[in-house]
Amino acid sequence: MTEDHAALAAALDAADPLARFRDAFVDSDEVTAYLDGNSLGRPTRASADRLARFATERWGARLIRGWDEEWYDLPLTLGDRIGAVTLGAAPGQTFVGDSTTVILYKLVRAALSAPQVAGRDEIVLDAGNFPTDRYVLEGVAREHGATLRWITPEHDAGVTPEQVAGVLSDRTALVLLSHVAYRSGYVSDAAAITALAHDAGALVLWDLCHSVGALPVELDAWGVDLAAGCTYKYLNGGPGAPAFGYVRADLQDALTQPIQGWMGSAAPFEMGPAYAPHDGVRRFLSGTPAIVGMLAMQDMLDLIDDAGIAAVRAKSVALTEHATALVDDLLLPLGARYASPRDPARRGSHVTVDHYAFEATLPLLWERGVIPDFRRPDGLRLGLSPLSTSFDEVRVGVEAVRDALREVLDGRAVAVARVSGTAGSATGPDRDAAGLGGDATGPDGVA
Ligand SMILES: *Cc1c(COP(=O)(O)O)cnc(C)c1O
Repeated sequence: MTEDHAALAAALDAADPLARFRDAFVDSDEVTAYLDGNSLGRPTRASADRLARFATERWGARLIRGWDEEWYDLPLTLGDRIGAVTLGAAPGQTFVGDSTTVILYKLVRAALSAPQVAGRDEIVLDAGNFPTDRYVLEGVAREHGATLRWITPEHDAGVTPEQVAGVLSDRTALVLLSHVAYRSGYVSDAAAITALAHDAGALVLWDLCHSVGALPVELDAWGVDLAAGCTYKYLNGGPGAPAFGYVRADLQDALTQPIQGWMGSAAPFEMGPAYAPHDGVRRFLSGTPAIVGMLAMQDMLDLIDDAGIAAVRAKSVALTEHATALVDDLLLPLGARYASPRDPARRGSHVTVDHYAFEATLPLLWERGVIPDFRRPDGLRLGLSPLSTSFDEVRVGVEAVRDALREVLDGRAVAVARVSGTAGSATGPDRDAAGLGGDATGPDGVA
């Protein structure tokens, strides 16, 4: 059985047209299967070099002149590059800066300021969305006296056009959803939902955190109003790399964003007495951009551009199909449940499997250099970043999950983990006290 899986994985790797890209990433002897590139992508080798050279050559030698030469424009030139390579967005609509959370806040507030939704007071969202999206909307709704209209998606799916149609009305100002659901991996029909929202007179804001860099996105063709997403997941920008925001060109000058700082003002270096917004997408910037955080994603964008996003998606589908077959063979017999869409067309680049014992299993895996993550209440998430993940890595990972899960179910693992201090080493000191039962995956903010 194991030989069959190993032979199949080897054959898939041998036939993989994107196999050569794996060498472009920094490897680590400590890790035998990295299945969390959807939370934090691996660094590219080019980025390791770029980061080191930046300190001496750009920052070290150009010093303050770097702002005039390159950095002042970088949030917009890099935005255009993200737009062209991954978002289907023409230039002048995408910017980089702040975290996804802060950009969501700015764009939600901007949407509510739009003349075309004046007098409307409802925001559509879903209970399955990532916490920060829901928390930001709860806060904005309180500030504005707006009403939240909740959709509850199926556990192993996500928001459908029918569900959205059921809550839209002439009171809807904004619909905010994730294109790919962070837990199940469900891919919502963004084009259809955008069209429904527009027919109802509302604006849409798509969260693209689990889409960008893993599957084709066509913001301009879909007629999307607003979007935001992370760059440290499938764009491999590194921990805390700044997010991007998208605002459709013809909407920009009618919108007002709430954090009116000098970097988005009409004339930043005039140091004038009062704020006036810059023309175009620059008005969505606030303060000094995080240039160091914008370095690594440039190398990943080069790799995605080289491979082509359609080929990246094809490999992503092949990887999740492979993972699904392994889960069916190795984990379902141990009582696990598949918690992602079975249809690859509706599935992003990760697969989630539920089992009550996964929370106790995760520390063993991390200790052994096998790194998926855990999402409450009982989900093990296998994230498969297409350019850096091999088919054999998935095989090694799922076999390790089976082995560790068996140990936990047999009651053997508890003693092993306590003695070796696994729970502490895998989870950080603040979770030590929680032991095996703790939230072993770090903050949900790294989803
Ligand atoms: C990862 C993720 C975030 C993270 O937001 P940060 O501001 O970078 O912490 C937000 N939304 C979704 C849907 C995510 O998957």
